[in-house]
Amino acid sequence: MNYQLIPKELRPIAEKVEAKQRISDSDALTLYCARDLNALGMIANVVRERKNGNYATYIHNRYINYSNICILSCQFCAFAAKKRDAHAFEYAIDEIIGAVREALPLGVTEVHMVGGLHPTLKKEWYLELLQRLRALDANLHIKAFTAIEARHLAQRVFRMPVRDTLQELRGVGLGSITGGGAEIFDAAVRDKICRGKETAAEWLDVHRTWHSLGGRSTCTMLYGHIETYAQRVDHLRQLRELQDETGGFTGFVPFAFEPSQSHGILAEIKRASAFEQLRNLAVSRIYLDNIDHLTAYWVSLGLPLAQVSLSYGVDDLHGTILEEKIFHMAGATTPQQQTVAALEHAIREAGREPVQRDSHYRHLNGTRRAGPHDEPELACA
Ligand code: SF4
Repeated sequence: MNYQLIPKELRPIAEKVEAKQRISDSDALTLYCARDLNALGMIANVVRERKNGNYATYIHNRYINYSNICILSCQFCAFAAKKRDAHAFEYAIDEIIGAVREALPLGVTEVHMVGGLHPTLKKEWYLELLQRLRALDANLHIKAFTAIEARHLAQRVFRMPVRDTLQELRGVGLGSITGGGAEIFDAAVRDKICRGKETAAEWLDVHRTWHSLGGRSTCTMLYGHIETYAQRVDHLRQLRELQDETGGFTGFVPFAFEPSQSHGILAEIKRASAFEQLRNLAVSRIYLDNIDHLTAYWVSLGLPLAQVSLSYGVDDLHGTILEEKIFHMAGATTPQQQTVAALEHAIREAGREPVQRDSHYRHLNGTRRAGPHDEPELACA
């Protein structure tokens, strides 16, 4: 690292990072307050390249939001609906199977499935859904359910402990749980943006339990609303501590609050700037020294900014997705899917080497399935 390009106040932190020493919470706060974005990128790149070389990965996946009907009404959520609402939807198992069956010939390796906390779907519905997805293709990775969905299923649907519920779901095909629902761990913030949702301890405990069963998962942070930098650092600290304990997190996926449809306490929130999103990614990369991968969620950033983030600590551009609903119902104007060619072009143009990955960020090398989405494409947005 060229220390001449690092402002004086960041040099002790840069030296720690080069020496592979863990940075402190107060170091992270200093980084969050830094205005020299390129210096942050340089420091984050040390961690990124140490862990992932010049590779940048993506996954070929199909998103399914099986229903937006939810018993909660998190203040930040524009996705959820009550059964009576005009925008409520609920797919039948046959429809979900049909959508995934259509996606398989395109080469997808993962179905990523989350929904609301549905008030009436039965245990048999969830088990049949997973069984039939598994029967479609034994190699398809089924990534499904946030920690709060897992708790909902355990408490209200399966009426069993979380551990037993996760085990039963795994027995019929669940490959990994998703990282959603973490939001910001601070209790006072949660009370304002998602009252009634699981606590930080409960979110962490679902992941701890899943990891203890041998499972892996991703973790997330929803930022850019009413939280402070100190609360972001507290969130990262709790993730880092659980990772020290279990080693079960494969990647971290932060995303900025999407304010277009917000109301109440969130009505006046402005969308996080490009500067803020890159700064958040870089600080996360530097702080989370025990999580191997950092994903830029292009649905939130847009592909052009996600491409730039490959120089700010990011080593993964998430996936093709093929139909995202949650951010788009909140007003996101990004596309609902990307082609493999668009992701690979974005990565190459940024000077990185594209590699398709599986759900645990393992390189698929030459083994990936080819599909029509591999057609060459000139544009990267
Ligand atoms: S964020 Fe999840 S739990 Fe909260 S209202 Fe939306 S769908 Fe329901």
